[in-house]
Amino acid sequence: MAKRKAAKHKESKRNTVAYCLRCRKKTTMIKPKLCKMRRGRKRLAGHCAKCRTKTSLIVGKSFKM
Ligand SMILES: [Zn+2]
Repeated sequence: MAKRKAAKHKESKRNTVAYCLRCRKKTTMIKPKLCKMRRGRKRLAGHCAKCRTKTSLIVGKSFKM
């Protein structure tokens, strides 16, 4: 079941899952922050919920928090 509700709060409450190099698996991202890259690409930067290592996730142009 995929729910896609618009978040009321500005900070994303949904689980953003990114690959953590330290845990070597996909983990939940803490406080994902949207960064713009060149060519209109976007990237989510945050921290691993388990080991607090920086994680990032490349998302599409149309991605919205
Ligand atoms: Zn980790």
